[in-house]
Amino acid sequence: MDKILIVDDSVPQAAKLRSILEDDYEITVAHRPEEGLALASKGNFSLILLDVVMPGMDGFTLLKKLQEEIITQSVPVILITGLSDAQNEQTGLILGAVDYIVKPFNPMIVKARVNTHVKLYSYRKQIELQSQTDQLTGVANRRQYETYSAQKWKESVRLQVPFSICMFDIDHFKVYNDTFGHPAGDKVIAAVAKTASARLRRSTDFFARYGGEEFVAFLVGDGSDKAFSHLKSIRQAIEDLHIPHDPSVSQWVTASIGGITVIPKEDLSFELVLKTADAMLYDAKKAGRNRVTWVNEGMKQLREK
Ligand code: GH3
Ligand code: MG
Ligand code: MG
Repeated sequence: MDKILIVDDSVPQAAKLRSILEDDYEITVAHRPEEGLALASKGNFSLILLDVVMPGMDGFTLLKKLQEEIITQSVPVILITGLSDAQNEQTGLILGAVDYIVKPFNPMIVKARVNTHVKLYSYRKQIELQSQTDQLTGVANRRQYETYSAQKWKESVRLQVPFSICMFDIDHFKVYNDTFGHPAGDKVIAAVAKTASARLRRSTDFFARYGGEEFVAFLVGDGSDKAFSHLKSIRQAIEDLHIPHDPSVSQWVTASIGGITVIPKEDLSFELVLKTADAMLYDAKKAGRNRVTWVNEGMKQLREK
């Protein structure tokens, strides 16, 4: 059930709105604007019904605050008010409210408008999610990687925490496709993605399909020792899937991984770090594949085998 937040200082008014909507939605009521803001910031409301005239902070101010926060800025807000003049309606809509309902309201109209905006919000979220997800594997796609990498790098520079990036590439995959066919190859890509992403589930981890049979991951907060050994275990888990490969190249499907851990600095570019991870992947391939090659914080190279 979608969740709706009602922010209204008037107890009977909020109760009336609740009674109109409670059959179809899970309703939360806040009678104070600050309480409304705090509840909204915890997330997962599909719509906010906001009274304009409230003591302390008025609805317009609260709306502005909601629009400034990443968590709440995309949640639709409908203003409900006794202020019926065009100037107030204009202010509310310019501030970003999706709709404006004037008291006294008709329950059926309120319900219809709420339904429409909740539906639109759900479509929008679905499209956003689809546009960021790789269809074959269900993990993040290249587009999400581009947005996320810039954000995470900036954050790590600010917080001065260890940042690791690594590139995965499935070994001899052209041969796999040639021997077993492209659809079988697709299944392997999905299985490898599932295995790796299941082991990168912390809120600070990120894993995406970079393209073709290549993946990229970030780990934030761990030093190189931990990151390197974690990636070795992921590489092993891929091998342990025991997906038969063409025996002329390998018994099982395997992947090579190249990575680097750095303490981000202003004068260090993300591109250079990524390039180094890519160079380490190349090194792992050249050294015989199915292995992890890493560069630690002291720029020392660590080789699995
Ligand atoms: P290496 O061990 O050096 O990585 O050898 P490789 O054959 O894996 O490397 P190469 O980059 O030459 O080949 C990658 C292959 O991956 C070629 C391409 O057909 C295949 N591939 C890329 N994307 C997909 C996909 O979505 N599905 C399938 N089945 N194959 C793909
Ligand atoms: Mg490749
Ligand atoms: Mg490959």
